[in-house]
Amino acid sequence: MKKYTEIWEDIKQSLEEDLDEVVFTEIFRPVNTVFKVVNNYIYIVAPNEFVKKRIEMLYLNKLNKYLEYKVDEMHKFRIITEEQASKELSDSKEYNVNKADDSLTNRYIHGNMNSSYTFDSFVVGNSNRLAYTSGIKVADQPGIVANPLYIFGDVGLGKTHLMQCVGNYILEGDMNKKVLYVKTDQFVEEYVRSASKRKFDEFNSKYREVDVLLVDDIQFLSGKTQSQNEFFKLFELLHGQQKQIVITSDRSANELKDIMSRLTSRFEWGVTVDINRPDLDHRIKILKKKLMAETSNSDLIPNDVIEYIASVFDNNVRELEGALKRVLFYCTAFNIDFTVKSAEAALENLVKPRINDNFLSENKIKNIMSLVSDYYRISTSDLISKKRTAKYVFPRQVSMYLIKTLYDLPYKKIGTFFNNRDHSTVMHSVEKISNEIEMDINVKKDVEKLTIKCGQK
Ligand code: ADP
Ligand code: MG
Repeated sequence: MKKYTEIWEDIKQSLEEDLDEVVFTEIFRPVNTVFKVVNNYIYIVAPNEFVKKRIEMLYLNKLNKYLEYKVDEMHKFRIITEEQASKELSDSKEYNVNKADDSLTNRYIHGNMNSSYTFDSFVVGNSNRLAYTSGIKVADQPGIVANPLYIFGDVGLGKTHLMQCVGNYILEGDMNKKVLYVKTDQFVEEYVRSASKRKFDEFNSKYREVDVLLVDDIQFLSGKTQSQNEFFKLFELLHGQQKQIVITSDRSANELKDIMSRLTSRFEWGVTVDINRPDLDHRIKILKKKLMAETSNSDLIPNDVIEYIASVFDNNVRELEGALKRVLFYCTAFNIDFTVKSAEAALENLVKPRINDNFLSENKIKNIMSLVSDYYRISTSDLISKKRTAKYVFPRQVSMYLIKTLYDLPYKKIGTFFNNRDHSTVMHSVEKISNEIEMDINVKKDVEKLTIKCGQK
């Protein structure tokens, strides 16, 4: 079954690349489970009749086309709804009460888990080692060592993957554990729906009876006061019963906006870990692992080509994976060798806009840096250096502040322009200058002048 789940995940990823984002999110994102494979029909589970119909009417041929490339023997997809799948399971259980596989599948359906996200398939490097070891510890002793486990980092760096590893590991150890994965926006939606009907039974029994709750992208609770209250109650209840909670977010708990502090402070009760961008070696390892998973041959693509892909796609593992698949597809479809040249051709459309993008923002940033250095009569190299004399530190902080307020780049990204300073240093600098602007009229005037020089006012 694992093999088919992986195939489905792959096809889903291709769909994500092919389809309009809204269509993909509405129709395919919630389709995660391969329910069974019978007579060469692969049954995938749609959340409801509407999605099932849409897929059958509009996409089934497309899906079956993709499938032709993925399996040797002729297979086709069939769609069933979650309701049908559950019914079939409970019917079959009357005959076969202890069939292990069924229970596991059952958990996957209700728990919304993706069984291909395992610790095994998670490649460890400096950027995620702490997150990984914390994940393992939590999976080993849920509810005990770190509750909640709070994982944060930029998009596409493996937060969802890692949180699902924890759930899958716990399920593998004890399939009677109720592991529930939920995206925060889905939680909000379900809560709002229950509240509008004033019917909370289903909602409560779904969320309050779990052993492990995985809540993805908690930043989406922002501004949703009622849902925050509900989540607060749920958190208290589960935490009180030593049920493990894992939370992911795109930022640290104290950077969350418009979420009540009694909630964010609880997010820091357990262990907080961040995931950063993988370095070049790490990216190469990830590509090799994905290549192995994809083709069962990690040497199929020569090292220089792998290195080329890894060097171009440096800030998002999802994009890195997408690039690899594109190269694979391109070279296989046109029957050409895997060379750097062919990889360049395969990735042309993806690479060009990225380079321009980077180029643009880098230029703008260099411009700010040179304006600020001129203004304070220091050199740009001192501005970005590690020198800690006030003469350099203050202008440095001002330039970080200007970059943040003018272009709103992530703190981490800004740090890369200043000798790879980490994001907390940048954050601190930006905050310091904001405070000084309030307190000191001279600083305020200087920053205003500089803002005008940077062409923004
Ligand atoms: P996030 O939730 O942080 O946005 P995801 O967990 O969805 O990121 O990861 C994006 C893609 O990158 C997934 O396909 C995931 O399997 C892959 N990925 C991310 N980090 C790793 C890693 N360390 N090892 C293997 N695959 C990874
Ligand atoms: Mg995610």
